[in-house]
Amino acid sequence: LIFMVILIKVYTFIILSICKKMTPKKILLLLAVLMLFSCNTSTKNNTTPKNVILLISDGTGLSQISSAFYFKETPSNYQRFQTIGLMTTSSSREDVTDSAAGATAFAAGVKSYNGAIGVADDSTMVKNLVEIVSSKNIKTGMIATSSITHATPASFYAHVISRNFEEEIAVQLAESDIDFFAGGGLQFFNNRKDKQNILNTLTSNNFNIDTIGLTTLSSITNSKKVGYLLAKQGMDRISEGRGDFLPKATELGIQFLSKDNQPFFLMSEGSQIDWGGHDNDAPYLVSELIDFDNTIGKVLDFAEQDGNTLVIVTSDHETGGFTLASKKKYSTDGEEYDDYKEIEMTFSTTGHSASLIPVFAFGPGAEEFSGIYDNTAIFDKIMKVTNWE
Ligand code: MG
Ligand code: ZN
Repeated sequence: LIFMVILIKVYTFIILSICKKMTPKKILLLLAVLMLFSCNTSTKNNTTPKNVILLISDGTGLSQISSAFYFKETPSNYQRFQTIGLMTTSSSREDVTDSAAGATAFAAGVKSYNGAIGVADDSTMVKNLVEIVSSKNIKTGMIATSSITHATPASFYAHVISRNFEEEIAVQLAESDIDFFAGGGLQFFNNRKDKQNILNTLTSNNFNIDTIGLTTLSSITNSKKVGYLLAKQGMDRISEGRGDFLPKATELGIQFLSKDNQPFFLMSEGSQIDWGGHDNDAPYLVSELIDFDNTIGKVLDFAEQDGNTLVIVTSDHETGGFTLASKKKYSTDGEEYDDYKEIEMTFSTTGHSASLIPVFAFGPGAEEFSGIYDNTAIFDKIMKVTNWE
């Protein structure tokens, strides 16, 4: 303490003696420079995240998110965000995007056509997040409730001109630098047209593969890389007994990727909110949304404790033109009216829609995600706040 007091006295003396020789204008300028300098250093420390967790709810617009506020029994974890933005989502050739172009925008910062996985509009390969960060010793993980070779996760590690090439995407996953993955899609590895068994490729590339179920961290802690393939194609629906696979796999992924204290990037997708929208099946949609909301909760619990993790929650597009409409009813004299006391979930399409999509951010660097921007900016902003590029 005495040392500090002496230091402050010496510092004041120096400043005062400099100031004596300066005009008031110059003193103000010096103060401004000093303030700018101190602000710069303090924000720099607080806004550079070590880890990034990107949670994608496929096919989720504001109405889907709103359903958690009406139909989830516990408070929605979306309420825990302070920083919210909005995003335009059109693809390079279409106003209404699909998941491939949407995820390619997130994973590579490039606008491409619907169906494109990690390639630009001219079909040339574009570097994706997994490739960029793996070369810097940053660990990576992919989780989905679809097949792990489906459009959204695939765009983060693969390059194919069509999302339908899931068998080729499986080969590219096995040869990728991904450290952890969990989802469905086993048939694209072991029941293929070319009769190859890509599970062998995974094993020879240091993956410990499990096709039975999620395990605990202690049983995989000695593995270099880990992959769970727990369904032939997509995982079961929540209503078919998938249980807490998504929150559990996401927690396990975080534990595995952070075990050596290395920085990590994790993408975890609630894939089937989109499928509920395509089916115009409101109970399916809402149950999958609530499962995703629970996953947000687990991730925020970790990020709050960790303090060095940026969490981004968003979607590639809206599906179904979903609306929490008031319920249509008929009075005794047969006249139609809208009962504002009751919600009726309605749809306007079995496809996607072009409405702006919310973005929620938490943790160091979160402020960067407020405002209105294009979906490719998700990639740019991640790169900017992490300095990973
Ligand atoms: Mg998807
Ligand atoms: Zn879709």
